[in-house]
Amino acid sequence: MEQAAQDPVSDPVFEPPIEKVIIIGSGPAGLTAALYAARADLAPLVFEGVAAGGQLMITTDVENYPGFPDGIMGPELMDRFRKQAERFGARLLATDVTAVELSTDGLANHVVWAGADRYEARTVIIATGASAKWLRIPGEERLTGHGVSACATCDGFFFRDKELIVVGGGDSAMEEALFLTRFATKVTVIHRRDEFRASAIMSKRVKEHPKVDIMWNSALVAINGDRTVESVDIADTVTGETRTVATDGVFVAIGHHPNTSLFVDQLPLNEKGYLELPSIATTATPIPGVFASGDVADARYRQAVSAAGTGCMAALDAQHYLASHGE
Ligand code: NAP
Repeated sequence: MEQAAQDPVSDPVFEPPIEKVIIIGSGPAGLTAALYAARADLAPLVFEGVAAGGQLMITTDVENYPGFPDGIMGPELMDRFRKQAERFGARLLATDVTAVELSTDGLANHVVWAGADRYEARTVIIATGASAKWLRIPGEERLTGHGVSACATCDGFFFRDKELIVVGGGDSAMEEALFLTRFATKVTVIHRRDEFRASAIMSKRVKEHPKVDIMWNSALVAINGDRTVESVDIADTVTGETRTVATDGVFVAIGHHPNTSLFVDQLPLNEKGYLELPSIATTATPIPGVFASGDVADARYRQAVSAAGTGCMAALDAQHYLASHGE
């Protein structure tokens, strides 16, 4: 006889079933993990989060994702990831995870909280990603995707023969500036101090590049433009004087922060706050049944395609873990 389904409203002792796989995050890593886990018949439960889709949701044309020779808009690409995972039975919840209790002994289930709702799972795939740091100045958010970007490899191509500004003094800013010289006629690096934080070799390349100008002791205080970027207001960090400079685009390269706050004190983090995996050969964390994929464990490559690749690996690792435990 078929058992009647439990109803959370009429049955006060309703408890959700124990999930085989819970995936936290819905960027390329999380949704690729969902696709693979769903096709392995594991019916993964994906916490998409309220800001679903990850960093590609704030990217316009994506021209370096293989399989799309004419490029594709970031949000559309993520919509396709989502539909493909759902087609095979992934269940997506537009809810943020608020806490996790990862079981260290491999016997008890892992617990995932979304507010007051409690979920249990045999395996958890962490794919919470990283977020670009932003300046939080007037005009920045409004013009993101319209001349303001945090990813030169994603958007640099659209600035052929333009004049650009890169903000930051670390290796990311150096890398972005050098990459943008392929397209732009001139790149101005704006840094708030009078020396770079970046490695000597990267700093040297930037300083010696004929297309790069450097504005030391300078901070962007506003980005101006009606529909696209037209100019920026720059303050001298020593004198406080402000001036307006015309530009076609602004690349903010002041670092990323990994979304690891849920896992502090439960999983090892490196000095930059990223999840540290014992081996790069698998996505396994030191906690049995917990796997990590995408930018949350990758300070280096940070590409949609590399995140998708590790999402696939995490789902296969979770599948092997379940199989080796007889599930
Ligand atoms: P980072 O080293 O933390 O540098 C961030 C830069 O942005 C700093 O120069 C900082 O200024 C500036 N900054 C931070 N907040 C700012 C704000 N609100 N306004 C203006 N400027 C601000 O970050 P990253 O460059 O992303 O590098 C992260 C790590 O990845 C580093 O360890 C780096 O070596 C590594 N990485 C390596 C490579 C490579 O080897 N090819 C490429 C990219 C990244 P201050 O200097 O004044 O603090």
